[in-house]
Amino acid sequence: MKRIYLDNNATTPVDPRLLELFVSAAFTTFGNPSSIHGYGQAAKALLVKARDDIAKIFGVRSPEIVFTATATEALNMLLKGFFGSKPSGHLITSNVEHLAVYATVERLKSEGLEVTYLEAGSYGAPQPEDLIKAIRPDTRLVVLMGANNETGVLTDYKAMGDIALKHAIPCIVDGVQLFGKENITLSPGISAICFSGHKCYAPKGAAFTIVRRGLKLEPHLTGGHQEHGLRAGTENLASIVTLAQGATFIAEELNSFKEPMRELRDYFEERVLALKPGAKINGTGPRIANTSNICFKDIDGEALLMYLDLHGVAASLGSACSSGALEPSRVLLNMGLTRQEALASIRFSLGRYTTKEEIDETLKIITRFA
Ligand code: PLP
Repeated sequence: MKRIYLDNNATTPVDPRLLELFVSAAFTTFGNPSSIHGYGQAAKALLVKARDDIAKIFGVRSPEIVFTATATEALNMLLKGFFGSKPSGHLITSNVEHLAVYATVERLKSEGLEVTYLEAGSYGAPQPEDLIKAIRPDTRLVVLMGANNETGVLTDYKAMGDIALKHAIPCIVDGVQLFGKENITLSPGISAICFSGHKCYAPKGAAFTIVRRGLKLEPHLTGGHQEHGLRAGTENLASIVTLAQGATFIAEELNSFKEPMRELRDYFEERVLALKPGAKINGTGPRIANTSNICFKDIDGEALLMYLDLHGVAASLGSACSSGALEPSRVLLNMGLTRQEALASIRFSLGRYTTKEEIDETLKIITRFA
């Protein structure tokens, strides 16, 4: 059976062009970048180049790039590092954030932070005017996702950043679902934005954050001086250098695969909506090019997901972290879906390697599911 992978928002296959680089960075350039001998300096040279390459893509300075293992770690670093050990004041976020933000904010809230959750509604993302209304004299930070991992709905993060800037409030963007799907604008209102390698065709084990000058953070991990003293610990060189090369490929090639991916996604949606009366797309706002979150009326989403899997198609129920559990998606419930609607919803997320043949095969399998 040929397997079809439609779960690219959970993780992406690795770009095969990165294999050789990964192996050579892991096995040949194995030195510790902090060592002063030749082995260390060779590793350091790769690390410096990786940081420079990523900085160049985004038009920022190299010291503004911070590597972590995952975006979850980056968001912990940003949020906990911003508020320090005694969180106080007010933070604004939304009610559809990924758990990496949601759970971290809840933790800070239990420690004394006051939090406003902007409503995403059926649109799927908060609106700039809601941010304006939520700002208080003691608001210290805004944290919002660039695109939702479950629905793909885009937040107008540029407008949000502009508003925050006007009030001299830093704005952090969870950019994980943007990279490899949308062109990214780093406007002056964005104080930090993070991305994850395994969501953009690089191996797992490395993520990067752009921390703009002026955003003050307490160290996330103490120890050595790595990552400008923010995140101590020997760098995962193989994952970092392949992430930088993968990011370069994305920057160079996004315009060639983004629109074909969007056309394929739209074709898939049109056919599904025609095949399954009553089905609807979750999230009415503009979306990234690859994501379709479909509510199949009166269908048990888990049964459909299992049926798809049995026939070789990988999709997802809610977010990857909660698939396998029977609880409906918190994000979909917060968008106003009923429990039953949320449990009848499936996320299909295409990738740059998804083909029309795969989409046609998936459509056939969906048609056969009674
Ligand atoms: N933020 C969003 C929007 C995500 O989709 C994910 C992963 O699904 C994360 C953060 C966490 O990324 P990572 O898997 O690198 O920790």
